[in-house]
Amino acid sequence: MNTGVIGLGAMGAGMARNLAADGLLAAVWNRTAAKAEALAAELGVPVAADPADLANRCEVIVSCVSRDADVLEVIQALQPALTAGKTVVDCSTIAVDTARQAGALVSETGARFLDAPVSGGREGAEAGQLVFMVGGEAEAVDALAPVFQAMGKQTTHMGPVGSGQATKAVNQIMAAGINQAVTEALAFGQASGLDMGKVIDVVGGGAAGNWFLQKRGASMVDGVFEPGFKLALHHKDLSICKRMSAEMGVALPIIEMTLKHYERLMEAGFGEEDISALFRAKRDLFENGNMKSL
Ligand code: NAP
Repeated sequence: MNTGVIGLGAMGAGMARNLAADGLLAAVWNRTAAKAEALAAELGVPVAADPADLANRCEVIVSCVSRDADVLEVIQALQPALTAGKTVVDCSTIAVDTARQAGALVSETGARFLDAPVSGGREGAEAGQLVFMVGGEAEAVDALAPVFQAMGKQTTHMGPVGSGQATKAVNQIMAAGINQAVTEALAFGQASGLDMGKVIDVVGGGAAGNWFLQKRGASMVDGVFEPGFKLALHHKDLSICKRMSAEMGVALPIIEMTLKHYERLMEAGFGEEDISALFRAKRDLFENGNMKSL
């Protein structure tokens, strides 16, 4: 099952490496050519000239780019080379409506489309331990089992196109709440003068333990915020969640608060840092002794 990967960022590079390890990777393409050339040389696969060239070489096209407009741009570039028998699997996090629009564009060609957003972070992508929440035809999901298994540890078919992204919105609201809780609690611990290595170890071993504390706790208290998951991308996701909630007539506190906090951090130039950079704002509360910074 010849598979190509488009978008070799924090997530796509790890996904491509794991597809290569299972003998499935046939080509890669990245907007910034240098990234594609370096990874292609490492993995011994060709760099496609453009997305259509990649689609000509592959039955399965996995894309993992940044935002809604980027996904549509990639789909339009793929379109001339899509035919029946090919499947586009988009792993970017985008709005449900955009996933449906992408699905309709792909269907026009006779090819199939799956919206397959992921959870597990850069580490999950590197380790082949991603969780896929997938919308589209169940049969197409089953047919691609070897591709999903190469990249992940769990694949769940959620329903028609768009339902993968709707599920990912649930995940992103939860991730925002966890980020708020972990950054605030660790800033409090640091301001209390505790040994933070011990705090992370003992709290992480109990009922409050979680993935984010385990993976980002030590780096954030050291003031290191290398992505991981870029804060500006989580802001994009929460903006989608905000629109979805507004359509249901509600404004959810975690979404509203986190968007506000992220906007302040982005204005201060921290949008390309990991989402754990929220710790900067929480730490600031203790250093300034007031709530002005939030
Ligand atoms: P990233 O490191 O910033 O990489 C983004 C990739 O998309 C790069 O390869 C970039 O190419 C490419 N790209 C962006 N716009 C494009 C366009 N218009 N045409 C073609 N390629 C384009 O981001 P990431 O962390 O891998 O995230 C990718 C997607 O996965 C996002 O939707 C994100 O929300 C989602 N996600 C991320 C995580 C995480 O923990 N990082 C977890 C789950 C889901 P260039 O190299 O040319 O910039």
